[in-house]
Amino acid sequence: MRTPIIAGNWKMFKTVQEAAAFVEAVKPELIKLSAAERVVCPPYVAIPAVQAALAGTDIAVGAQDVHWEEQGAFTSQIAPGMLAGLVKYVIVGHSETREYQGVSDVMVNKKAKAALKHGLRPIIAVGESLAINEAGQTQAFVGNQIRAAFEGIPASDLVNIVVAYEPIWAIGTGKNASSAQANEIIGAIRSIVAELYGTVHADAMRIQYGGSVKPENMAEYMSQPHIDGALVGGASLKPDSFIALVRGAIQAKGLG
Ligand code: 13P
Repeated sequence: MRTPIIAGNWKMFKTVQEAAAFVEAVKPELIKLSAAERVVCPPYVAIPAVQAALAGTDIAVGAQDVHWEEQGAFTSQIAPGMLAGLVKYVIVGHSETREYQGVSDVMVNKKAKAALKHGLRPIIAVGESLAINEAGQTQAFVGNQIRAAFEGIPASDLVNIVVAYEPIWAIGTGKNASSAQANEIIGAIRSIVAELYGTVHADAMRIQYGGSVKPENMAEYMSQPHIDGALVGGASLKPDSFIALVRGAIQAKGLG
């Protein structure tokens, strides 16, 4: 049984004060919902405050990106060693970083490896554009992203990796992939992981769906066999909504 994992990607939302207030608001309820792993990914500057507020709980903190170098002249970037001890997870390859910051498949692979080296767990994000989707190339495109992201990563690291399938056309648009479509692509991702590492590893790997997930559609996604959780943007920003997402996931998986 794969433990569901619900991660809130706050993107460029919330000041430090707003982040701290959010965490205080969700903490009492989220502590009770331990059947799912709960992760919040604030902007970098809010990470220390959020981490301090969640210390002693099993609610995890994640970062939204990381550089692969140990340190250096990389203005604006954050090294993995700077995040160690502050976060458990780090998102790598989010489509917004691929699109606006030129993050390539090769860089995603380097980021994932650098994170693992520092004991951080990468959430590797993949997903296709609308044009690729409409051309019927989704499986091939996402398959290539997965193969590139896992290049040179040993099987022993797989337990520390989560994959997020986020079709770009479904992010922030309200146009979500149907749960059957999402399950099909996530199943295909699992098959590639099986090809690369064997079925035992593939069956144990957690793969999330992301893209316009809301409390109202959460149960539908989570009732699909291959979908192990969600990476959520907009609907993760309000305390009640985030709690409802976690609760919905737990119920849909029959865990509470
Ligand atoms: P939305 O949930 O706002 O569509 O964003 C999805 C996402 O990009 C999460 O990483």
